[in-house]
Amino acid sequence: MAEMPFMTPAEFAGGVRPPQGGGAALWFVFRGDQLLVELGPPDSRPSDDPRVPHRPSAARLPLLKNNNRLWASPLRTLYLGALGGLGCWAAEVASADAPSGYGWTGMRSLFTVLEDAHFALAGRALQLLQWDRDHQFCGRCGAPTEPRAEERVRVCPACSLTAYPRVAPAVMALVRRGRELLLGRSPHFPPGMYSALAGFVEPGETLEQCVARELAEEVGVTVTNLSYFASQPWPFPHSLMIAFVCDWADGAIRPEAGEIEAADWFDVLQLPKLPSKISIARRLIDAVSAEIRRQS
Ligand SMILES: [Zn+2]
Repeated sequence: MAEMPFMTPAEFAGGVRPPQGGGAALWFVFRGDQLLVELGPPDSRPSDDPRVPHRPSAARLPLLKNNNRLWASPLRTLYLGALGGLGCWAAEVASADAPSGYGWTGMRSLFTVLEDAHFALAGRALQLLQWDRDHQFCGRCGAPTEPRAEERVRVCPACSLTAYPRVAPAVMALVRRGRELLLGRSPHFPPGMYSALAGFVEPGETLEQCVARELAEEVGVTVTNLSYFASQPWPFPHSLMIAFVCDWADGAIRPEAGEIEAADWFDVLQLPKLPSKISIARRLIDAVSAEIRRQS
């Protein structure tokens, strides 16, 4: 079980320029937000999990052939960096069926299936491919942008505007009141599921102000004793979720119309259906409820 999904592995060194001479390589190939995984042989045991394609040399492309024909030309290819001695590459292909022995799989279902390091780098690959795709033209003057050889940035040759990979900070706050936790649900959640409240940071706002504003807007409560819990990259599409725990101070729950379908106080021994363990929300709720149970 991964402790922290999407967290960059310690042995990974990011880079833009591939090493001379190549060497063995891992390929993170996406079609939309689906990752290409190598499947076990047809008679494989259940222990033969899907895996990230690994190639003995970093021959850039084509990485795969189907019936001896080029399988798919990539729309874009990016060097990500090195994992130990392995070069890591990201590629995006247009709509294509997977070659035989391979399959397209959504990222969420690969959590705890792929090696933790590979899962994390797939998240990084997905974000960088999205960034590259979305910044082919200058947002100011419309000219085609160009990558820079020594740095992860696209630059406009006409007006010099730079576009770095973007990360959007969002806060999550779990509110305590005695043995109870304040949980809410968005209209798009699966039926019955509740989670801690969250929202994107606005320009000019501190994380603390964002927590106070989100809780006031979404459920009408004020809080105190805000403390940091942990953060988690979230590549759908480019968030950094920063999680806090705090204590209720004032206000009765008043769910914001259109945003919060329902919100309530839940005793830590009677929690509703919660998000999956891939999310920082679940780690936050599990950690805080375990602490409250220990104390009571
Ligand atoms: Zn420009």
